Amino acid sequence: MSQTTMVVLTVAALETRDDAEVASSTPVPDRPVLTGRECQVRGAEARNNGRVTETVPPESALDHEIAALLKRDAAGLVAAVVQDESDGAVLMLGWMDDEALHRTLTTGRSTFYSRSRREYWVKGETSGHRQWVRGVRLDCDGDALLITVRQEGAACHTGDRSCFDARVLPVREVAR
Ligand SMILES: [Zn+2]
Repeated sequence: MSQTTMVVLTVAALETRDDAEVASSTPVPDRPVLTGRECQVRGAEARNNGRVTETVPPESALDHEIAALLKRDAAGLVAAVVQDESDGAVLMLGWMDDEALHRTLTTGRSTFYSRSRREYWVKGETSGHRQWVRGVRLDCDGDALLITVRQEGAACHTGDRSCFDARVLPVREVAR
């Protein structure tokens, strides 16, 4: 089991215990002694008003040779273009850091990093519009990924098949 999985499980366990305590009308029992890692998680949780997020991304288990090829932006991210394997349609653009790429490569589900929420999200986890990863390619200079997927339902949160369906801009066509 990877270190990342362990952390997630620890957070889930703490969350469950908190829910149980909030729901209970009986006196809150003494907290068990927390390990160092649990204390860290508790600290992050407190800073987020109880919302459990991975504020500090854990050190990634991404293969070092792959990591060495990445040219990340100032936020540590690379762009990930998602393409439908069935017909090559461009579905959406997301952002990945090393850990999101590692999860995408090892779980078979496209996983992105949200700058605004500062957390990882798995496409379709809440909407059900999941992406099953069929291939991942890195571009020539290492700052963009092409993720080929089998898409369930709409890729865009608006319900469109592709994020690029709704806003077609006028282009002046020039004869060559
Ligand atoms: Zn969209």
